[in-house]
Amino acid sequence: MKLDRRTFVQFSLGSAAGITLSPLPWKLTDDIAIWTQNWSWVPVPERGEVSSVNSVCNLCPGGCGITVRKVGDRCTKIEGRHGYPVNNGSICILGESGLQLLYGPWRIPSPLRRAGKRGEGIWEKISWEDAITQVVQKLRALRQKGESHKVACISGPNSGTVSQLFARFLKAYGSPNFVQMASGRDTEELAMGLMHGTASPVAYDLEHASFILSFGSGLIEGWGSPVRVIKAHSIWRTRNLKERATVVQIEPRLSRTAAKADNWYPVRPGTEAALALGLAHVIVKESLYEHRFIDNYTFGFEDWTDSSGGNHIGFKRLVLTKYAPEAVSQVTGLPPRKIIDLARKFAKAKRPLATWGRGKGSRQGSLYECMAVHALNALVGNINREGGICPQPEVSTRTWPEVEQDEIARSGFGMPRLDGAGTDRYLHVKYLPERLPQAINEQQAGAVQALLVHEANPYYTMLDSTAVAEAFERIPFVVSFSTYLDETAQHADIILPNHHCLERWEDFHTPIGLQKPILALLRPVVPPQFDTRHAGDVIINIAKRLGGSVAKAFPWKDYETLLKWTMGDKWNTLEKRGFVQEANYKPPAWEEAFKTSSGKFEFYVKALERQGASQPQDIRCLPHYKTVEPEGDHANYPLTLIPAESIRLANGAIGNPPFCTKALPDTVLKGNDLFVEINPKTASNYGLSEGDSIILETPKARAKVLVHLFEGIMPEVIAIPSGLGHTAYDEFLAHKGVNANKLMGVVEDPVSGLSATWGARARIIKV
Ligand code: SF4
Repeated sequence: MKLDRRTFVQFSLGSAAGITLSPLPWKLTDDIAIWTQNWSWVPVPERGEVSSVNSVCNLCPGGCGITVRKVGDRCTKIEGRHGYPVNNGSICILGESGLQLLYGPWRIPSPLRRAGKRGEGIWEKISWEDAITQVVQKLRALRQKGESHKVACISGPNSGTVSQLFARFLKAYGSPNFVQMASGRDTEELAMGLMHGTASPVAYDLEHASFILSFGSGLIEGWGSPVRVIKAHSIWRTRNLKERATVVQIEPRLSRTAAKADNWYPVRPGTEAALALGLAHVIVKESLYEHRFIDNYTFGFEDWTDSSGGNHIGFKRLVLTKYAPEAVSQVTGLPPRKIIDLARKFAKAKRPLATWGRGKGSRQGSLYECMAVHALNALVGNINREGGICPQPEVSTRTWPEVEQDEIARSGFGMPRLDGAGTDRYLHVKYLPERLPQAINEQQAGAVQALLVHEANPYYTMLDSTAVAEAFERIPFVVSFSTYLDETAQHADIILPNHHCLERWEDFHTPIGLQKPILALLRPVVPPQFDTRHAGDVIINIAKRLGGSVAKAFPWKDYETLLKWTMGDKWNTLEKRGFVQEANYKPPAWEEAFKTSSGKFEFYVKALERQGASQPQDIRCLPHYKTVEPEGDHANYPLTLIPAESIRLANGAIGNPPFCTKALPDTVLKGNDLFVEINPKTASNYGLSEGDSIILETPKARAKVLVHLFEGIMPEVIAIPSGLGHTAYDEFLAHKGVNANKLMGVVEDPVSGLSATWGARARIIKV
């Protein structure tokens, strides 16, 4: 047949109309849709009843209320819970990504026993009965040999009942070696304990503050209870112009918080205490301090004489003689004029507030730095007042009965702690987790024979990862209670996987920094998705199977029974409403506020007289600036490496979910390559341009990274994103970037023994 152009066009249009109007293609499409819905690998939206359940997010210390939307039995969305006192309807990117953690491939589906070499990732699935029996046999054997003290336990830093259960287990079993992972609250608790006589974290009344002087706190980078702080930030910004709060950020890098602040003052890393004391100098010299508070409710502001007639210098004389703006300028790099202006503005503000805790505030730090910042709050009298600070209160719960130890437990528990906490040298601290790997590595004869790890990922998050890996090698038996296949689980011998936080009951106590006490309840939103068990149930079960006095210390049938018993008369409200809050709580008046030996706020901390004997007694009792030198000499390592923390990058026990990793700009991570920030002036000294490859080396390790030129970082300082460089989890997270913790060693705070690390000495080599 011959087809002319006109016939061809008519034929084509006719065919198109025919196909469109014919039911055949629509029927085929429909059939294909129905057919493909039955393919197991094609995601199909869930069908079923729509419901929502309220719970609490515990992916960080923020403790936000959440509402989980469900379709049938499947969670489909996590939102901030409206009306919840911490976050009132808002949520952060990590909380929103919680479903990727619940349903993602990182979950450990059942108990596992290592079948290959440590870290090789070869596992054998075993039954719960088998797994618990192996752990009990190992623990029983150690107890029988009189080596109960060689069992250690590392738990997350949270204060709920599950962590306490592990502590109780070790006490009943017979080991002093229970530690909680390091947190900024350790340093704050210590400072509050020494200066106020109440060892609790600091609660900040951010919402009512009118001048926020942040010593490196990443107020919009996840500091404290992140959503609560970000909401406070927007309150400061949306108040009318007269009431608008002023935010001043002090840190060596133009972080997001610094970029949104009214003023950013870059200072040399680690010199924050000197600046705080320089500000104190101006406030004291110009008599801008709160006289009523200082004169009546403080001790050690003025020089004083002890009962034996010995003379002591007070805070006033110390700051006036040693911290003049010119001297402080030499240390911090900030011009004297700016120091004077800042001090005046801070002291004259209606409700000034100084915050301590760099970045997310999740790292320990220098005790004297914390005390120096805290002394500023005292100078302006904003203690236990609106817009100020107070010791963080707690909702009380029932106290567990005392553990009755048998002879083995008494003798094991009485052995010296491996980390040295509580000894004369480290008198005031409960745990020194960063010292634990070092202690294990220093002792020849297998100091730890078994390690239990709960809600923590020390293999990744502890500083000096190489030493941590070496310590793990020396421990013959490691048990992980992790929900996810993180680095610590990857190097365990047995994994007893915990339920995900949306699958379990648990209590959550007042989120860090809040001034009104709250007790909240995590509840099972969905049934367990895998063959997992509540870590609380597992430890109770292990104790019961060990028998004798260990079993007797756990009289509860299971964790749920224990939780209800502990919550006492608050349980019904918790179950119904999800939380109990003492909304009308007011911190005590100054007359009753201080539980120190002087009954006053102590600038001069008498309890420190026995610490740090290398310094004159008066100096060691007063907040002062003391350089905490990182490892390595300046000639070989002329640069300073600091961590850069971000709300889009989880850097604690939880690995970053894919949704958060996707949100990272490609000046942080491109493919698997990590960028570090370098000032263009520093870069030009090394002949470096944007995107160049370098070797970054510290005394601890070296890593290949790319250069991102950034005017917002001080010359000679390099910032490395914190939260990448995982070797475990899945393809969405593993082997992306570099673990900053590997490059940084532990720098011990000379007075407390806590880790004062915020960076490392470094050098760069162009490749
Ligand atoms: S801030 Fe913390 S607690 Fe709140 S939603 Fe985010 S991860 Fe969860």
